[in-house]
Amino acid sequence: MRSVEEHQRAVADLIRARPPVTVPLSDAEGLALAADVTAPISLPVFDNSGMDGYAVLADDVATATPEHPVKLPVTEDIPAGRTDIPSLAPGTAHRIMTGAPIPFGADGVVPVEATDGGTEVVAISAATARGRHIRRAGGDVAEGATVLWAGQLVTAPAAGLAAALGLAELTVRPRQRVLVISTGTELVKPGTTLAPGQIYESNGVMLAAALRDAGAEVVAAATVADDTAEFTAVLDRYGVRDGAVDLVITSGGVSAGAYEVVKDVFGRDGDQGVDFVKVAMQPGMPQGIGRVGDAAIITLPGNPVSAQVSFEVFVRPALRRAMDLPAPDRPRRTAILSETLTSPAGRRQFRRGLLDHETGTVTNYGPPASHHLRYLASANCLLDIADEVTELPVGTAVEVWDLTG
Ligand code: AMP
Ligand code: MG
Repeated sequence: MRSVEEHQRAVADLIRARPPVTVPLSDAEGLALAADVTAPISLPVFDNSGMDGYAVLADDVATATPEHPVKLPVTEDIPAGRTDIPSLAPGTAHRIMTGAPIPFGADGVVPVEATDGGTEVVAISAATARGRHIRRAGGDVAEGATVLWAGQLVTAPAAGLAAALGLAELTVRPRQRVLVISTGTELVKPGTTLAPGQIYESNGVMLAAALRDAGAEVVAAATVADDTAEFTAVLDRYGVRDGAVDLVITSGGVSAGAYEVVKDVFGRDGDQGVDFVKVAMQPGMPQGIGRVGDAAIITLPGNPVSAQVSFEVFVRPALRRAMDLPAPDRPRRTAILSETLTSPAGRRQFRRGLLDHETGTVTNYGPPASHHLRYLASANCLLDIADEVTELPVGTAVEVWDLTG
């Protein structure tokens, strides 16, 4: 049996980064930049007003007070977006809005609150300093400056900055394209009626959601019966051998029984490029890993908790690393166990837990068996219990993976 760490390394080696691509801004959000971004223009683009008010010569309003306001004729109206930039004659004022270009000759702005708001003549009741309320061209970004760096996540503000600089596209590390295949003749779509012996398909929905949450692109989530022809047809339909998919994640069909479709297609003895291995963990012991054409293949066990925990332990970190995304590993911390637990010898066990961030205590949540999806659905952490540990008395410090982080 291989250790969890060994299999983590194998999966990390299997999932390879895709070459950078240049995509529209809206598609870049949430991905890592693959190149530095240099500003093609300065920001602000031009000197503009920081307030709604009046552009003036500071000297003209130097004596203004509420008792002795200075009155100036208003000779221009400059809304934001006005593209002909007027000139201000000494002894006059231009009404100006936030973001509008400062007229030539003006050297200060009086906010509207310090005036009577006049449109023909304005009474100004406060002085302004030279440069006051003027946002200078280049004051935020100088043309040619590096403003975003390769490896950085395209967050909402980063995308906003790129747009402000007039960039319509960014060069990023693309999403891994993943095909999810759920196997099992017993599986039917939620929303339909169950016949005796049938169950609703849940792994595909769950893994697709987890993949999107990890930053990957779900090409499709297909369900197939335990039928090798049907399984192979899905591989062909989505172009697994033609480079259309980076990773195939299957669930089910890898146990020791009959009708193990995944093992039957990929070769029970690893003769089709997929190795079926046992990992010393619970849940999630049967794992498969390999390659078909250029596509990576990861076969997860069928029990829903096993599938999802295996995804957390092996797939999510490797995918995020291959996409240069931050926090590939869930945040880890130690927490104090609030009850006594036992754990099997020789298996690294991942129990579902409820972590109380405030007190730093953790409660085991639900039995260890791998069909209890209900508990995983409301757990906020995994308890990571080392292979050799068999007894965890109440009060033991245990390592937990924060699934909300
Ligand atoms: P298997 O590894 O195919 O024998 O599946 C193990 C258990 O997980 C069986 O009880 C299956 O019915 C169940 N199972 C497998 N795949 C799914 C799925 N996609 N959704 C829900 N349950 C599943
Ligand atoms: Mg099955």
